[in-house]
Amino acid sequence: MERNLKSTMSKLAINGGQPVRTRLFPAYRTIGIEEKRAVNRVLDSGVLSRYLGSWHQGFYGGPEVQAFEKEWARYFKVKHAVAVNSASSAIQAALGAVGIGPGDEVIVTPYSMCISATAPLFYGAIPVFADIEEDYFCLNPASIEKKITNRTKAIIAVDLFGQPYDADAINKLAKKHNLLVIEDAAQAPGAKHKGKFAGTLGDIGIYSLNYHKHIHTGEGGVIVTDNDEWAKRLRLIRNHAEAAIEDAKTKDLTNMVGYNFRMTEIQAAIGREQLKKLRALLKKRVKNCEYIASRLARIPCIIAPKIRKGVSHAYYVHAFRFDENKAGISRDKFIEAVRAELAPTQTREDEGPLVSFGYVKPLYRMPVFQRKTGFGKANYPFNLPNGRKVSYKRGLCPVAERMHYKELFFHDIMHSFISREDADDVIGAFIKVYKNIEQLITYGK
Ligand SMILES: *Cc1c(COP(=O)(O)O)cnc(C)c1O
Repeated sequence: MERNLKSTMSKLAINGGQPVRTRLFPAYRTIGIEEKRAVNRVLDSGVLSRYLGSWHQGFYGGPEVQAFEKEWARYFKVKHAVAVNSASSAIQAALGAVGIGPGDEVIVTPYSMCISATAPLFYGAIPVFADIEEDYFCLNPASIEKKITNRTKAIIAVDLFGQPYDADAINKLAKKHNLLVIEDAAQAPGAKHKGKFAGTLGDIGIYSLNYHKHIHTGEGGVIVTDNDEWAKRLRLIRNHAEAAIEDAKTKDLTNMVGYNFRMTEIQAAIGREQLKKLRALLKKRVKNCEYIASRLARIPCIIAPKIRKGVSHAYYVHAFRFDENKAGISRDKFIEAVRAELAPTQTREDEGPLVSFGYVKPLYRMPVFQRKTGFGKANYPFNLPNGRKVSYKRGLCPVAERMHYKELFFHDIMHSFISREDADDVIGAFIKVYKNIEQLITYGK
């Protein structure tokens, strides 16, 4: 009780006290005059999109798309960049380009946005879940190794929350077992592993340009690779492969049933301007995160994010772990109390204060895996003859489950437009709740 003598003086907001902050936090707004000018340039040209349907220079998209791809490739130091309409399309196209097919197994993470795990289903391949690392939340190489069978063809490695996956260990494992690594860097543009950009660490990498990523074009995505043949196949898949395949002279005709994954000229023009801003946006975000983490780490029940050796983090969100034993109360109760102390962020008012616990329910818990629904009444591809019975039962990935249900929390009040004063309010809310934790124990049960 001793440490809580002060508690009467600062009643927690969740118990009716005065919150630390009632003023909204500033919006994360990256679109400015530069993007406006770029869009007007496209509107003035009258060409909002342009992809020819036959194998020809025009098959590659209009001038903005082609310029954007060149600039993206140069920035990330990779041979080819292919712009598409989303990162979800990008993952799908990547699996198609490398030739994933029915019955193949692809090792995926349970802790990511759903497409990182469901994408193989579109090609009839079976997602096999490996567990995550407790320190970095990305795929755990030791767990991957246990899941490799003679059907395994690829690994989808996600740079979760903006931290690059364990590229040294996982790439080595992939090489040893002749597997491909598709890197989902949707949350990590600009992060690096030993000087190399996230997205370029595997065989094919993908980025997202949807509206809540670091830089955006409303919706959009980019695929990168150093492999010429895959780059060609990616461009075919993007633009109705079947219509152009006869003249394209690609060696490999598998999966050459295409989609319309095309990025428009307006998106590309915006993307070119956004790319120029990435470095500065990231710098400020990292600085905020380092400051907030250094302060929150002084609270005994909070474990600040660990950074893998040799990498830099892009902090899509700022994730921490919570030690319930040290706190004496649950993570959920603690975070609810922190939320009550803080205000929402402009443009995202309806989400409430941007502090949350858990991230996504481990993806194998989704009905598509629990009931193995897949496609059609016969549940393709889970119904494939000679298909191996893959488990999606509860307890499959204990670390991901523990992070989700017990330990992990994150916040989003550290982006590039958050000032030192804003950050101090976030820190203040956590410290206030910690110092008055007794109020939660007394009132809570
Ligand atoms: C956002 C995100 C995606 C999907 O991005 P879209 O562009 O919205 O399709 C995929 N993977 C991860 C890890 C993401 O965060």
